[in-house]
Amino acid sequence: MIPTAQAESDLAIPSMQPLLDNLNAVFATGKTRSLDWRRQQLNALESLVSDNDVAIQRALKSDLGKCEMEAWASEIGFLLSDIAHTRKHLGKWSSPRKVGTPLVAWPGKSYQLPEPLGTVLIIGAWNYPLQLTLAPFVAAIAAGNCAVLKPSELAPATSAVIAELIPKYLDSSAVAVVEGGKDESTALLACRWDHIFYTGGEAVGKIVMRAASAHLTPVTLELGGKSPCLVDKRADLKVTARRIVWGKWMNAGQTCIAPDYVLVEQEHVDAFVAAIKAELHAQYGENPLQSADYGKIINARHLRRLQSYVEEVSVHYGGEVDEMALRMAPTLVVDPDLQSDLMQEEIFGPVLPIIPLASLEDAIETVRARPKPLALYLFTSDDKLQQRVLSQCSAGSVCVNDTMLFMTNPELPFGGVGNSGMGSYHGRAGFDTFSHLKSVMRRGFSFDVAFRYPPYTSLKRSI
Ligand code: NAD
Repeated sequence: MIPTAQAESDLAIPSMQPLLDNLNAVFATGKTRSLDWRRQQLNALESLVSDNDVAIQRALKSDLGKCEMEAWASEIGFLLSDIAHTRKHLGKWSSPRKVGTPLVAWPGKSYQLPEPLGTVLIIGAWNYPLQLTLAPFVAAIAAGNCAVLKPSELAPATSAVIAELIPKYLDSSAVAVVEGGKDESTALLACRWDHIFYTGGEAVGKIVMRAASAHLTPVTLELGGKSPCLVDKRADLKVTARRIVWGKWMNAGQTCIAPDYVLVEQEHVDAFVAAIKAELHAQYGENPLQSADYGKIINARHLRRLQSYVEEVSVHYGGEVDEMALRMAPTLVVDPDLQSDLMQEEIFGPVLPIIPLASLEDAIETVRARPKPLALYLFTSDDKLQQRVLSQCSAGSVCVNDTMLFMTNPELPFGGVGNSGMGSYHGRAGFDTFSHLKSVMRRGFSFDVAFRYPPYTSLKRSI
């Protein structure tokens, strides 16, 4: 049975209620609602990230072996452009959003007025430990909320950097960081937040949702799952392989939107596998375990989990492990048992199963038979096939003829569907997630037509 947040908090650590009370009191002053305060906080966060990029790089290297380029593209640079985009659009996003007014309410005006929710809790994951904690935070402060951040304990160096720097740069009366793991999360979840934003796995997602339900707190759950990648034999093989290798083996496969497995037509498997091997060689060299551009597995437990996946299947390529360095080479498995753990669980590591199918029609069925994924990838130049997959397969996001690149577009909300999550963020979607869009109708005192008021005479009823 999954333990409840309340039951466990009794055993573990002091209540987080005093912290929440303080933040709620600050929120009640209205300080965080002003656009000036929000802009100051965004500027402060931007300075935090750019002033300390060396310390952040070092932390990401220590936690995940991230090379400079990856750390920049997927964490530091990503955040800086998220902050810049949010600051640029803040005025517009926070303004009233005019809607039409029906004749019956004329003269009158109708609009939605975004307002902050209050004090929100953000629980981050370990695989992009900076981005996944601070990008929701950008949206939360832009929307005018107080916030508590709980970075993942599995990336301790990045968690420590966040905990050290946030109070130095941001308004510590309105923002706090709580470091720790399950016990601290449990104590936090026992409190009544105005929103909980959680990134991580499905099992803890259920704990979060159960704890939130005790207070009717809305949740955003950014979860994961097995993201499929469909490759049509008519796709440009070289470009396809290059983009799949990039998306799959960045961060050693520990990416929630990495292609989890590939579905390829049987007759095309050999050519596809050869192209992937050639690309792996081109991107990570003869010995990927020694490549400066190749990341490490987060900890020994996860390395062991990944090793157990490949022990029960036949490895076609790779599979080497450096246990001391927590590294596992890019690994290909061709035609594994679909009931194996490798094909039942989210891999979240550098192993790519390749599943041969008679046709891509079967691929659509395979995807539809499984829980709705966070991302779906399709490589084909056939427009009709693109339309078929788009209309028949559900997924949080779809990227046609590339992997992961949709994340760079802040105009595209990011989030899951079904088991891969609920709610979304990035750009305006994030601002809206941390806002209540209050519906307002404003009227004056003129044209007060008596028709709608009782008594409902027979004349009124007849019209
Ligand atoms: P994790 O272990 O880092 O846990 C996530 C957070 O939950 C951490 O802050 C952790 O302290 C907290 N936590 C752990 N146990 C808890 C408990 N019992 N009660 C309350 N809180 C608890 O993350 P993980 O689950 O290993 O992350 C991997 C999963 O996250 C994968 O499924 C991946 O796809 C998914 N993920 C999703 C996204 C996304 O944006 N959708 C991003 C990254 C990872």
